[in-house]
Amino acid sequence: MMFCPKCGTKMVLRQIRVNKEKKVVLVCPNCGYTIEKQREKHVISAGEERTTAIQVLDSKIAALKTMPTVEIECPKCGNNKAYWWLVQTRSGDEPPTIFYRCTRCGYTWRQYS
Ligand SMILES: [Zn+2]
Ligand SMILES: [Zn+2]
Repeated sequence: MMFCPKCGTKMVLRQIRVNKEKKVVLVCPNCGYTIEKQREKHVISAGEERTTAIQVLDSKIAALKTMPTVEIECPKCGNNKAYWWLVQTRSGDEPPTIFYRCTRCGYTWRQYS
């Protein structure tokens, strides 16, 4: 909850359009004072980073359809074929990680070097 810094009235949330962009602002119903709401910063932990990398590639797989495959055993269902791709998970000074996705069950895992 926010109070107007000018008159102390409880401020209300409003959605406004600025250059075709939707913005959420806090508006004082008494004097019209407006504060733009800060976008919450999403802090990504190491675990989430991995999940995000997989999710991003998930959509890429859907878009590409033709992924290279490799003979590798799926740790989940034992199938011996998987799609593979490279992901630069961190800053450029680390080598990219190889991800695999089982062609049968869709299980996705990464190669640990
Ligand atoms: Zn006010
Ligand atoms: Zn599998």
